Amino acid sequence: MLIIGSHVSFNKDNQLLGSVREALAYDANTFMFYTGAPQNTKRIPINDEKTYEAFKLMKDNNMDLRNIIVHAPYIINPANTENLDFSINFLRQELDRVEKLGITKLVLHPGSHVQLGEDIAIKNITHVLNSCLLSDTKVDICLETMAGKGTEMGINFDQLKKIIDGVLYKDKVKVCLDTCHLNDAGYDLKEFDVILDEFDKKIGIDKIACVHINDSKNILGSHKDRHENIGLGTIGFDNLINIIYHDKLKGVPKILETPYITNGIDEKNKIYAPYKFEIEMIKNKKMNTNLLEDIRNYYK
Ligand code: FE
Ligand code: FE
Ligand code: ZN
Repeated sequence: MLIIGSHVSFNKDNQLLGSVREALAYDANTFMFYTGAPQNTKRIPINDEKTYEAFKLMKDNNMDLRNIIVHAPYIINPANTENLDFSINFLRQELDRVEKLGITKLVLHPGSHVQLGEDIAIKNITHVLNSCLLSDTKVDICLETMAGKGTEMGINFDQLKKIIDGVLYKDKVKVCLDTCHLNDAGYDLKEFDVILDEFDKKIGIDKIACVHINDSKNILGSHKDRHENIGLGTIGFDNLINIIYHDKLKGVPKILETPYITNGIDEKNKIYAPYKFEIEMIKNKKMNTNLLEDIRNYYK
């Protein structure tokens, strides 16, 4: 069965229940969210009543908790020596929050090495992971493949392998592939079987715990990281469909992080979520050539 969903919100009033409702409105059977704003570490306490209500709604709609993803805020930088203790403390709290929500997968950006170079960055990242992942940790940390913007880490499978090699509880470290980031890092997704083969040889295909499905605004190897709506970017609809329905990724949740759509008048103001329409296209395996207009008309 296809496990498909998108990024959804998690607000202080309805928390996980609100996230489930939003995902259902997109006809999704999974979803991903930040437990607070991605650019800060302010977090609200988890409301157990809302969590239980969410579990019930999920059960009624055949949503499996094991497919739900939390994304750690991107301001924590485990690659940088500065603020390493802050990263560790925040990540520990985040793992507790994720566990309290019954969720088992936390996506983490490996961070940017700034001026430190790759080797020190890898040491820092493994130190953070080893400080957070203990024998009784119930949540897996999924390192995301990155585009290579600035001094980003996780831009190829060799770096990810080196990080995982340094972790004590290796079974608790997984990987989240991001199609836009792979393209921008220089992996040609037209040759996805070759990419999967390389991943399997270096890391092991069973480590893939999540795939972010995004088209890209930029060309192969651009190191930019700007997501585009499905079928409207340089990766293209057919290549994304090939990945989404790939036999070797059958049980892996696919999450859309494509940009919101403008009303067509004010091009700066992105107000409409595209996910319901993109999920429909993916289920039909057919590109909707009227995608943007259909979304605007639906929300109008
Ligand atoms: Fe990410
Ligand atoms: Fe991503
Ligand atoms: Zn991105």
